[in-house]
Amino acid sequence: MHKVIAKKCSSYDIPKIKNAIDSIFTKTDFYPTLKSLSSVLLKPNLLGAYPPDRAITTHPNLVAAVIEILKDHKIAISLMDNPGGTVSTMKAYQLTGMENLAKLYGITLINPVKNGIYTYNKNAKYIVSKAFIDAEAIINLAKLKTHMYTLYTGAIKNFYGIIPGLAKSNLHRLAPNPKKFAEFVVDIYEIIQDKVAFNLIDGIIGMDGNGPSTGDVKKFNLVLGSKNAIALDYYASKFMGFEPEKIPITRITAEREGLDFNDFKLSGDFEENFVLPNCNIQASKRKNLLLNLLTVPLKGVIKRFFWTIPYFDPKKCIQCKACVKFCPGKALTLDANDLAPKLDTQKCILCMCCVEICSEHAVSLKKSFLGKMLIQEHDASKA
Ligand code: SF4
Ligand code: SF4
Repeated sequence: MHKVIAKKCSSYDIPKIKNAIDSIFTKTDFYPTLKSLSSVLLKPNLLGAYPPDRAITTHPNLVAAVIEILKDHKIAISLMDNPGGTVSTMKAYQLTGMENLAKLYGITLINPVKNGIYTYNKNAKYIVSKAFIDAEAIINLAKLKTHMYTLYTGAIKNFYGIIPGLAKSNLHRLAPNPKKFAEFVVDIYEIIQDKVAFNLIDGIIGMDGNGPSTGDVKKFNLVLGSKNAIALDYYASKFMGFEPEKIPITRITAEREGLDFNDFKLSGDFEENFVLPNCNIQASKRKNLLLNLLTVPLKGVIKRFFWTIPYFDPKKCIQCKACVKFCPGKALTLDANDLAPKLDTQKCILCMCCVEICSEHAVSLKKSFLGKMLIQEHDASKA
């Protein structure tokens, strides 16, 4: 039986979060493990260099609450993540509030540039930052958000961050559809899973709509935790309104590990059938459906009528070139006089990385008339 504890928590007041996490650790019998550890590496979701109120990254006060509990147990603490693309990790540490935490609590922030790598061969060749593999134990501090490409992003997807920024681009190129990409994410989780001592999800303020970076900031008022990342994702995604068994990353991980969803047990402040009343998952479901359709073998024919392409808004673009440098399909160019990147539609693999990476929200998806009709019809049939 894999326990998941979900606690109500309506603010980022550190003592309140600490109480919630203390209850989660107690009810999952995590304290005996914690007491046996001398060091822990914290793995927040630092997708990019964003301030905490954008709800893209794990909130620093939740990280602070965990740090205070670990310090009470005299555990040495370090923290690391690899943001997406060419974003500087040190800048991400600064803007997300992690740098302040390091100064306040004396924890170590690991700079990936100075950290080595290991490589693993599974469905692809994976380059992994050494610190995660060398850690005595990892506490996963994920964020509750929708995701256009993977539907939902929570505990397991957070481990995609053990791959250094630009190496992620190559993996997207090798996995040009959501299902293949989910297999890669599960491979990566399998590389690290023995090191993962505990998983928490920051759902106090999360994101719905077009997550993981361009969606809507929503107050969900909860913190969830489990020793088991799959069980945690099962309930967190269910709370958002998803059918967890239809989320490829959750399904593939459970299949590979031979886990039965009936072996997951929820307790805490919420009932088994609880669904967040204000959570919009339709936008990510629509985008995911269209991306799946456009990456099937008949894509040439389908694309003619049901196309979707990234659109780069010249009024919002600041010509930073982050998307151009990262683009796995090498489909973007930005010349000196351009106001926004130019797209080569033949090269675009619809990975959505440009949407995810752009800090200015300058990238959106343009759909054909028939594409919009199809998605609306699909939604109506589900109603
Ligand atoms: S679209 Fe966004 S990421 Fe790309 S160059 Fe413009 S501002 Fe930078
Ligand atoms: S243009 Fe955007 S969606 Fe297309 S391949 Fe490049 S990053 Fe991916």
